[in-house]
Amino acid sequence: MKRAIFPGSFDPITKGHYDIIERGLTLFDEVTVAIGVNSAKKYMFSLEERVKFIEDAFKGEPKIKVITYQGLTVDLCKEIDVKFILRGLRNPADFEFEKAIAHTNRDLAPIETVFLLTAASTSYISSSIVREVIKYNGDYTKLVPDSVRVKQ
Ligand code: ADP
Repeated sequence: MKRAIFPGSFDPITKGHYDIIERGLTLFDEVTVAIGVNSAKKYMFSLEERVKFIEDAFKGEPKIKVITYQGLTVDLCKEIDVKFILRGLRNPADFEFEKAIAHTNRDLAPIETVFLLTAASTSYISSSIVREVIKYNGDYTKLVPDSVRVKQ
């Protein structure tokens, strides 16, 4: 069985992430969305909320799992015996950033990073833009799955 993890902050999950996860399932039998916890980082949504948004977005899809982790992504891969990391690419900035991480990860462990190009329709979406729209009370609902709703 081919399994991959899709690591990130998912603060919150967006339609861009959703698209990569769904398309990841055409390549892998199971995709585990792994929410990285960085104690030095400030998040808009709590870890519990971020987990729930993703679980609810993929309700009834047993091939998608959601976990949280601390530390190096390659250590998580070893721990749960996963050989592939799934990542999305939106633009040249993503490519440069992802290239450095993928090379470093491959130095650390025999793990391949598989990249999927963003869908044209979601290529402009990022969690940081979504947070900005939410902060200033804009309509964020078009940018995220229906499971992501801000408490008033
Ligand atoms: P990070 O904390 O690593 O920035 P994110 O939660 O922002 O994590 O993103 C996780 C992954 O999702 C990254 O590979 C990122 O490139 C990808 N991603 C984010 N938004 C999109 C999008 N709109 N289309 C395709 N991939 C995306």
